[in-house]
Amino acid sequence: MRRGVVLVVSAPSGAGKTTLCRKLIAKDPLISFSVSYTTRPPRPNERNGTDYFFVSKETFQKMIDEGAFLEWAEVYGNFYGTAKAQVENAIKEGKDVLLDIDVQGAFQVREKLGRDAVLVFVLPPSFETLFQRLKARGTEDEMTLRKRLAAAKEEILRAKAFDYLVLNDNLEEAFEELYSILRAERQKTFRREDLLARFF
Ligand code: ADP
Ligand code: 5GP
Repeated sequence: MRRGVVLVVSAPSGAGKTTLCRKLIAKDPLISFSVSYTTRPPRPNERNGTDYFFVSKETFQKMIDEGAFLEWAEVYGNFYGTAKAQVENAIKEGKDVLLDIDVQGAFQVREKLGRDAVLVFVLPPSFETLFQRLKARGTEDEMTLRKRLAAAKEEILRAKAFDYLVLNDNLEEAFEELYSILRAERQKTFRREDLLARFF
């Protein structure tokens, strides 16, 4: 059995990470989405258990205390976390798992999982485009929009420590780049020792 890829995708809010992640899940049957826990209220089109598990601050704190998170962070004033069990089970079963998380979370995953994790940072073409995309999405009030834009520069500064950069200008091209990263990572020798084992 090959070793699973833990594909971590981060980006400033509005860069198109959710769009790219959804496309990847729809296209490839071997990768599954790690559904995060959050204290943020759901957006109109979001479903509990599919996009996020929407929980209270109390429940979230209880999960922290129980050590249920692989990583967690406060992002734009709300708490977000990845359940440890979901990711660990996937690796063990030789499946790939996709984490759509922020930069703080990405670095925690790198600390905990080492080379099992592959860190991809999605860049918008410019700050101007980022602003336009966020505004056009229409899911944030003025205050949240400002918070998210203010954080973007900080986040991009930390992108240097990621393994890969994907520029999301043309969506199809960005998707092909992301998908090619996953396909190449699947064939890393340390993940494909099963192929060598056939001969001995
Ligand atoms: P994120 O998850 O990074 O916050 P989204 O995936 O929600 O971003 O994308 C933000 C907005 O930009 C959405 O309305 C989405 O449809 C749009 N979008 C995403 N990628 C592109 C692209 N390559 N070109 C134009 N619009 C895009
Ligand atoms: P949104 O509120 O737009 O869905 O997400 C806001 C930010 O939180 C995004 O950058 C998203 O990637 C990040 N995020 C979502 N889930 C998690 C998680 O489980 N952990 C961390 N650290 N960040 C997350």
